[in-house]
Amino acid sequence: MPYKRLIIGTLVLTAVGSFAVQVNALIIRHMVDTLNEVVTGVQDLAWGYKMLLFSSVVLIAKEIINAFIQFGQKFFGEKLRIYVSRDISQLIVTKILTYRMAFYTSDENDSGKLQTRIDQGIGSITRLIQNFFIDILPLFANAIVALVFIYTANVYVGLVSTAMIPLYFYVSQLQASKLKGFRRKMRSFRENKNNGIISLINSITVIKSFVREPLEAEKHEAIQYDMTENQLQTRRMSFVFDAVKGFIEQFGLVVIILMTAYFVLKGDMTVGAIMFHVLLFNNVTAPIRQLHRIYDDVNDAMIYSESFFEIIEAEHEVETTGTYVPTQIKGKIEIKNVSFDYPNGTNALKEVSMVIEPNKTTALVGLSGAGKSTVINLLDKFYAPTSGQIFLDGVDLREYDTKELRKHIGLVLQKNHIFQGSIAENIRYGNPHATMEEVELAAQKAYIHEQITELPQGYESDARLLSGGQQQRIAIARLFLKDPAIIFLDEPTASLDAIATEQIKKSLDAIKENRTVIIVSHSISQIIDAHDIVVMEKGRVVENGKHEDLYENKSTYYDIFSAMANSLNLEKISQTLHQEGGN
Ligand code: ADP
Repeated sequence: MPYKRLIIGTLVLTAVGSFAVQVNALIIRHMVDTLNEVVTGVQDLAWGYKMLLFSSVVLIAKEIINAFIQFGQKFFGEKLRIYVSRDISQLIVTKILTYRMAFYTSDENDSGKLQTRIDQGIGSITRLIQNFFIDILPLFANAIVALVFIYTANVYVGLVSTAMIPLYFYVSQLQASKLKGFRRKMRSFRENKNNGIISLINSITVIKSFVREPLEAEKHEAIQYDMTENQLQTRRMSFVFDAVKGFIEQFGLVVIILMTAYFVLKGDMTVGAIMFHVLLFNNVTAPIRQLHRIYDDVNDAMIYSESFFEIIEAEHEVETTGTYVPTQIKGKIEIKNVSFDYPNGTNALKEVSMVIEPNKTTALVGLSGAGKSTVINLLDKFYAPTSGQIFLDGVDLREYDTKELRKHIGLVLQKNHIFQGSIAENIRYGNPHATMEEVELAAQKAYIHEQITELPQGYESDARLLSGGQQQRIAIARLFLKDPAIIFLDEPTASLDAIATEQIKKSLDAIKENRTVIIVSHSISQIIDAHDIVVMEKGRVVENGKHEDLYENKSTYYDIFSAMANSLNLEKISQTLHQEGGN
């Protein structure tokens, strides 16, 4: 719809062009007949010269008009392709941004595969649009006009030409359907191959350290060989069909020449009719000869766009949202009998219940895989519980407007994402409208301001050059700008060394103040600091309470805590510290 005028313009050009194409045939018939008359003495030489002059003028004029038409068709077709390509690229990005977490974590949407699918989808759809206006439409318009001319000249010749069309269509369709399976296979080979190379690059350190280059090369070779085999079979099949179609076309041509020659001999037609029919027949078969290519393009577009449109139309992937918009969040969270299975079937939570008090810090403790991050995923509405309910300030999480809810939640992960750009831009991600003063204030609260000002370019420095600990504090500064009532900290110090952990402690303490905080951590100090501790094991809550009580319990928490403490080698540490104190 937005490009209606462009399309109408192209259609008009196509209509004019399809008549221009027939001019050659008309002129040549006229020429041959006149020459024949001159040669046989029916007309004089001067008449012949006049005819030549007339024909030359018409042919050149036609070519000039044709040049403009061709330019217009190509340019408009290309313009349409570029515009549509821009529109659907934008469409798919805005669309997938609305999708729920499960879409991104599913195997099928591995970043490499998704990228290939989107690229190929956009590529083949836009190519189809372009081909339609540059190739398909003009060729078919030419064919139809040529057929009309043939029928006006002679009905029998017209019938022979028309008979070719269904025959050709049938063979081309047969070819296309035979090749469809190969194409589908090719698509998955390509996706796997792209994905393979990406994962190869990502795992290069491990591959090299285990000296597994030959093994990886072999794996890659296997995909490569399957692909080659498939490619060869595809080509072989194509060539067989090409040969059959070539034969059909030539056969039609011979029949038309013989028929016209017969009519000429009978005296029903002039000699010029032979050339006339051959050229018109050529105009009819030209697009048909392209038919398999058009079929291929359309099929490609169908196959690639199939999964492309699956992505665009995956309404079930759009994040669910309620309508409740909270004015203020207190931060009391109640999880009641929540069980949860990930989309791939992993049962991550079993009948989990807990109460998280507002303005307090609750630590989730448990071995890895216990389901701690899953709890946070559910609280952020990245996933919905399979059964059970979660309440925030007494309202079921399902009823909350998802975007409004997330405005009140801050998330700090093990490795926070630092976007390409300056430090100021990265902090401002927490509030795009923040002034520079507000950005600096947030940085001060996160105890990173001074370090930033010491950098040569200050707040304009590239944020990705900062150390892990500094990046983590940038992420915390970002949260100060966002100022959410609830904060989830998912192993915020796990990827940091001891010194960096010590450095970000102050900023973590600052951000925790007056907020409801849930922290997942393996750091003893962070656990002991919490007001309340929830202990999880294999997807269940096994203990809940204060550090001292839980320790007394001598159960799971005791085991985990003791293991953590032992790993620190406290005895040696205290000995060292004692000696130092003694000296
Ligand atoms: P924790 O945070 O306690 O280490 P998680 O909540 O991350 O544990 O994981 C709980 C279980 O859910 C584990 O068995 C894990 O393999 C599984 N799991 C985590 N994330 C996903 C996911 N995106 N898809 C499928 N299974 C997952």
